[in-house]
Amino acid sequence: MCSRHDLDWQKYIDDQAENREEFEKALDTCPSCLQEYLDLLLPSRLANPSPGFAERVMAALPSGPGRAYQAYKPVIHYLVAASLTLVFLELGAFDWVGSHSFQVAPGFLARLFGGLGDVIRGFITNLGGV
Ligand SMILES: [Zn+2]
Repeated sequence: MCSRHDLDWQKYIDDQAENREEFEKALDTCPSCLQEYLDLLLPSRLANPSPGFAERVMAALPSGPGRAYQAYKPVIHYLVAASLTLVFLELGAFDWVGSHSFQVAPGFLARLFGGLGDVIRGFITNLGGV
């Protein structure tokens, strides 16, 4: 029991204390109060979890048959996709990439970026910019 504070820690743990700030200040500043609080908190929480605790935990878990598969479904999809990519690479399915050169008409890029600049300037003007 702390000699400086006269606080009912069980009320604080049960969320029935009206002056919670006083309790929290004591926890911040007084090692004796902190120890008293922890001594009460840990056994009581482990022995008596809050009402509905087990139901909330079970509801949060995936249920039904195949729940392990559901939990690992994204990983399994990734592994299948990576394996198929390796098979296709080995078979040469992507060899065509890079074997073709694309011909761009002269001045195409200049016109493309000029058009993009016009679009961006239009956005800026419509949004109230300069
Ligand atoms: Zn204290």
